[in-house]
Amino acid sequence: MRYTIHLIIAAIALVATSCGPSGEEVNVYSGRHYRTDEALFAEFTQQTGIRVNLIKANSDQLINRLQMEGERSPADLIITADAGRLILAREMGLLQPFESQKIKEIVPSHYRDDQDFWTGFTKRARVIVYHKERVNPSELDSYEQLADPKWNGRILVRSSQNHYNQTLMASILAALGTDSATQWGHKLVANMAQTPRGNDRDQVKAIAAGVGDIAIVNTYYIGLLVNSSNAEEREVAAQVGIHFPNQNGRGTHVNISGVGIAANARNYENANKLIEFLLENRAQSLFAEENFEYPVNPNIEWPALLNDWGTFKADTLPLHKLGQHLHQAMVIFNTVGWE
Ligand code: FE
Repeated sequence: MRYTIHLIIAAIALVATSCGPSGEEVNVYSGRHYRTDEALFAEFTQQTGIRVNLIKANSDQLINRLQMEGERSPADLIITADAGRLILAREMGLLQPFESQKIKEIVPSHYRDDQDFWTGFTKRARVIVYHKERVNPSELDSYEQLADPKWNGRILVRSSQNHYNQTLMASILAALGTDSATQWGHKLVANMAQTPRGNDRDQVKAIAAGVGDIAIVNTYYIGLLVNSSNAEEREVAAQVGIHFPNQNGRGTHVNISGVGIAANARNYENANKLIEFLLENRAQSLFAEENFEYPVNPNIEWPALLNDWGTFKADTLPLHKLGQHLHQAMVIFNTVGWE
């Protein structure tokens, strides 16, 4: 009850302070936590006169909040760091389709919903990171090969509560089916260097600390470590290499950070405009240069670090198709004891 009152007060505060120079506004619920995003929202306001009111929380909290607020919700856009949460939000009736030819022209169809309820605006490759001295990259191959006993006690990966791992498991399920994906999960858990703990960055640090030799992580975390203001983090990054799995098969699993328009959006036009803005060259380049994410627009030039990692074959199974596997992915995590 106290939570509900808190939400109502927050909603009133949001609306009361929300008139931009033009009186236009757009209310954004975001599960991302990057300076780039706030800088871009400020640029958007400068260009259009539309004020951006930002509320940040994790994706699950934002989805719960949208659901509780219902028709009273001030939210126009929801931004998440994972396709799975947008699929879920759509299933819960919390989104409505965008209307923009431009979005469809820029974003490859496998990185957006088949009925326009959401679109990716950056891509994140979930790769295998390895210790350069303890592992020869020629020993690495696919996600499937992580089940090999040679990795016993050497694999680091975060908890199955993490959305990146849930969407990855959904992609494994889509590729292998339930039985093989379950077997894979069993063997992967058996090969773990420790019980899952920490975030992606912590897995890389655990490689450097000698806890394990390889880790499943998103590439941009390596970019953040390479460019860290902390010398120890740069030292961690210097010890590891990046392997893109499944290059001889379906390709590396690529998730998105994406956005959808809230079902009860009051500023629908402005919401559309902000999505388009996030897909323009300026924003796409900034996501790559500062966050080391991959631009979803295939025509954007990559910064040097991303080029150093190299081009790779990505799994192009449309992400919206992973929705049908997300529940089963959770069942597998439970079955195999991936904490
Ligand atoms: Fe992340």
